[in-house]
Amino acid sequence: MREYVSDAIVLGIEPSREYDRAVALFTKELGRIRARVTGGAKILSKFAPHLDPMNRVHVRLAHKNGFTLTDALTVDRFAGVKRDAKVFGAALRMLALTSALAPEGEPDERVWHELLRSLESGKPDIQLIASHFGYDLAGAGCERCGAEPAPYFALATHALLCANCCVRVPENALLLLREA
Ligand SMILES: [Zn+2]
Repeated sequence: MREYVSDAIVLGIEPSREYDRAVALFTKELGRIRARVTGGAKILSKFAPHLDPMNRVHVRLAHKNGFTLTDALTVDRFAGVKRDAKVFGAALRMLALTSALAPEGEPDERVWHELLRSLESGKPDIQLIASHFGYDLAGAGCERCGAEPAPYFALATHALLCANCCVRVPENALLLLREA
């Protein structure tokens, strides 16, 4: 078993069939990872306040057949971002895009610093994150019909779509990357 210590941004927390919970993290040291949170209700309630999406946390992880969270401590909750519904929404979309596109287990200093800079300044830049992963939103046409603009990102297929073509995709599987 190996132990890791890292700073991380909480991308989301998911119920897990096998374990009590799984938390998705973008870590400074390991890139995007999923870690299980085990140990029953007592441990869950101890960690819960630290695992709100968007929190910057200091985590301790054990690695054996995947990661297990062994400790989590909040560094920053980015209250300034959460005060403004529009900024909060944009920040959540930025994190959802990172969840979808960041390869698992690959550290990426640029993404790490850009996430931190966005959240600290209260100016999430989803287009910068998208372009880092190879999506040029400014010049992109719809993957299905070629129309511009194509501001929607389909989480399942990673396709950029126009407003017409996105209607067949369920709303919770779409991210609006650019306001009209
Ligand atoms: Zn289209």
